[in-house]
Amino acid sequence: MIDELLARLQAAYPHDFARIREGLTGKRTVSLRVNPLKTTVDDVRAAFAQHGIRCETRSFYADALVLPDVREDAVKALPVYEKGEIYLQNLSSMLPPLALAPAAGENILDMTAAPGGKTTQLYALSQGKALITACERDTGRYERLRYNLAKQGATRVNALKTDAAALDDFLSFDKILLDAPCTGSGTVENGNIRFSQAYLEKCVRMQRRLLQKAFTMLKRNGLLVYSTCSVLPEEDEEAVRFAQQLGAVPVPVPSFADVPRLPSPDGTLCVCPDGTYEGFFLAAFTKRP
Ligand code: SAM
Repeated sequence: MIDELLARLQAAYPHDFARIREGLTGKRTVSLRVNPLKTTVDDVRAAFAQHGIRCETRSFYADALVLPDVREDAVKALPVYEKGEIYLQNLSSMLPPLALAPAAGENILDMTAAPGGKTTQLYALSQGKALITACERDTGRYERLRYNLAKQGATRVNALKTDAAALDDFLSFDKILLDAPCTGSGTVENGNIRFSQAYLEKCVRMQRRLLQKAFTMLKRNGLLVYSTCSVLPEEDEEAVRFAQQLGAVPVPVPSFADVPRLPSPDGTLCVCPDGTYEGFFLAAFTKRP
């Protein structure tokens, strides 16, 4: 089924297709986020050095580390992992919380939160001082979210097991992250994916429903970040057009240095999958006063 996906991507990105195919059919390097609520980057680097593990940094985020020479299992066996001092997370997946830039006292909604990589990052970025509500509809994934919140010390997140599209319209938030359910076309590794037209259509329907709800609950002058781990235009730039039809006003996402890119509408970011980055898409919006 990778063939059907690759054919679509070739049509969507004729000039970048070779890079995309390489990124989706190869292996990807381990990366992680240091949890500043529990430790420091220097201490984590020292812990890795003791085990002979080499780390690289990235300029767009001091808490991100890339480990070019190890497998995830080796990292999971270390005390820094067990103690919640790190969170295994792809670099691309760290970008939406950075774009949302949570601050102390802000009322923030993470609509589709499990397993909690971005919720715990939002919490850490605000030093635990933002008022975060995190929704997850799936029971098993909700339990995983709660486990990760506890492990990462994100103690004051309000976790709800609910369909975010069914939240009360009277709720309103300063900032909303919609890290939407998607086909995962950007996260494919070694060519492994189950992709079909029917699944794509189902994802698009869920994304539109959640986007509409997000825009309803966004405060005037608030910030909505929409992201997917897909590089298919139906889930990305077409979602931007849909949001604009709702009245959402695009806001440029930050220019993250050295992130590999694919063509995307002005102000948005489409990350090209490669040996380090998963394919990802980010767009940001506000609501007129
Ligand atoms: N943001 C998460 C993270 O960084 O760890 C990943 C989220 S994943 C892309 C999408 C999640 O949305 C899945 O866990 C899925 O079960 C959940 N989901 C799908 N539809 C939902 C809905 N209507 N309301 C709440 N959660 C939903």
